[in-house]
Order: sequence, then C-alpha cells, then structure tokens
Amino acid sequence: MTGTQNQAGPELTQKLKRVGILSDIHGNLHALNAVLEQLDSDNVDQIICCGDVVGYGALPNECVETLRSRNIPTIAGNHDHAALLMTDISNFNEIAKAAVLWTKKVLTEQNFEYLRQLPLTLRDSTNNSFYVHSSPKEPGEWHYILTMGEARTNFNHFTEQVCFIGHSHQPFIIENEEGNLACPTRPEIELRDGRRYLVNVGSVGQPRDHNPRPCYVVLDYEAKRLEIKRCNYDLAGAQQAIINAGLPRELAERLAHGM
Ligand code: ZN
Repeated sequence: MTGTQNQAGPELTQKLKRVGILSDIHGNLHALNAVLEQLDSDNVDQIICCGDVVGYGALPNECVETLRSRNIPTIAGNHDHAALLMTDISNFNEIAKAAVLWTKKVLTEQNFEYLRQLPLTLRDSTNNSFYVHSSPKEPGEWHYILTMGEARTNFNHFTEQVCFIGHSHQPFIIENEEGNLACPTRPEIELRDGRRYLVNVGSVGQPRDHNPRPCYVVLDYEAKRLEIKRCNYDLAGAQQAIINAGLPRELAERLAHGM
C-alpha cells in the first residue's frame, strides 16, 4: 500500500513574498503554459505544484519537463503514482484507466524516475504552509475532502496556518476560527492571525467545477491575501492534442464543459 510510504517530504527554507500554487495539470501543457505565464506576470517568487502532473492529457512528458526545467517543487498525486503502477487503479473508470496505461507507455525513463521520487507532502515551516495532494490525514491513501466533517478531521493533521490540497479539481477555501469552520464563497480572502485555512487550489488541466478555465491560487504573504484565480488558455489546442494522441474523445470533450 502507498500509505505505508515515508510521508515526510522536503522542507522549504526561503522566506517568500508571493507564492503561486497549482495542481492537477494532468498532461495539459496548453493550460500549464497559460497558468505559468500568468504567475510570471503576477510576480510570484515561488511556484509549488500539488501533484497529478500526468494522466488524462496528451502531453505528460512536456508537463513534467516544464516543472523540472523551472525547478518547481512538486508532490505526488494519485495519477502520477498510477502511471508508474505504484497505486491500485482497479477503482479508476475505463477512460481514466486507458489514460493511465497510455501515459505509462509514453513517459520517458527520466520522467518516470522524476515522478517516482516525488514526495507525498511538502512542509514549509518558514512560511507556515503545508502541501499535500489528497488529505493531510493520510496522504498516500488518496481520500477526498468533500464535506465539512472531513475538513474538520483533517485540520488536526497539519500544524501550519495554511494547508493546500488538490485532487477533487474543485477549488474551495475553508476557514477555521478556533473550531468554527466557514466556507467563504468569494475567491479572495484576507489571512487572519488566529485562523487556519484548508485550501483546494482547483485544477490547471481538467477543472471540474463547470468552469473550463484553468484554476490556481496566489498567496501574498506580505499582504496576507489569498486568491483563487482563473485564466484563459488554448482549449482547442489541448483538445486537438488529445485526439491526435488517440486518447478517448471524452477526455477532449469534457475540457470544454469544465467537468
Ligand atoms: Zn487529479
């Protein structure tokens, strides 16, 4: 089982002003490039990826190589492990399974090795933030956090002020003020002392909140502001790449619906 792996990831030690957090790229290079362009013009001094670099999209090698070339700290997602057959895919639907097996076939040896060594979590004590793909409670079990009850339990499994996750492809912010949980619907909030936050940063490459635009988060540590952001990208290009690769057509179609 993946849950028995060492869960301790690397530490970040640099004091940050602005950080951009992205997740669930899923081989969609067109979307990744658009988000990185936005983050560059947004003057972030660090970008961090919460996993699922591959799976579904047609350009997994290019996505891995983009993260590698920019030295973006990245943690492992279930689809990254699935493509390496490091996790059980019997509960994946047929389309997801087909994408996993296609991805496994096309990944270069170097990129395979890169994905294999990704940690399950990233602790940033310097900036008081924690990163995991699925849940801080059991990072390698790939649980979803979909209810306030699950969120409440998971607040007990990180000590930092903010925990960033991905996995469900549905962005949210949950605010915890001494045990009182709230879910602000506005995309931008002020971080307050004495409150803690669980933030799902949404998905770059396959959003599932009925909004097809790539999603990501910017946290400004100096201004103490956190914002869920969206951007435009070459959706038709990403769809065409999926069709050209011979992947299931549904994977191209769903990108247009944000589902
Ligand atoms: Zn994902």
